[in-house]
Amino acid sequence: MDRKTRGSVINAYLNYIKKKWGIEGEKQCRKELGIEEMNFKDGQYYQDEMVGNVLRWIGRNKGKGAVKDAGKFIMHNLGILSWLVRFTSIKTLAEKFPSNYSEVYAFGKCWVDTSDPKNLRLKFKDVGYYEEACWVWEGICEEALAMTKTKGTVSHVKCQLKGDERCEFLVRVE
Ligand SMILES: [Zn+2]
Repeated sequence: MDRKTRGSVINAYLNYIKKKWGIEGEKQCRKELGIEEMNFKDGQYYQDEMVGNVLRWIGRNKGKGAVKDAGKFIMHNLGILSWLVRFTSIKTLAEKFPSNYSEVYAFGKCWVDTSDPKNLRLKFKDVGYYEEACWVWEGICEEALAMTKTKGTVSHVKCQLKGDERCEFLVRVE
């Protein structure tokens, strides 16, 4: 399957690594993944495997919490209109998710169900094809709550990797 993702996503994760573990951390990651000399361009598309490799590196070396934090970081820094996000509601933000998703990821499908404003559902088809991708989306949803100053919880209620038809994240708003 041909999965492509914008370089801006890879750059954001590499920036996260650099911010957390310094230039040495980024160097180490690039070396282990064989991308030492690669210069990813924000607007260009690359194999999503590259993103997967970076996230797996974070998971392998720093654990699940660090992968979730990478999701929070990318949501905070890459979120389209990220500064505007602070003035919007979690529901409005959720409604924008699918179009934001398709602007950077050229594979899989994302849609939302906001019919119950207390239980927002974010659904993905063919997106969480490795564990760390699911962890990252959990972090992204948590950051969406934080950025909109909304109290609530996120749970990954369905997972394609566990045999469900799709991945589903439930954002429960208090
Ligand atoms: Zn999943």
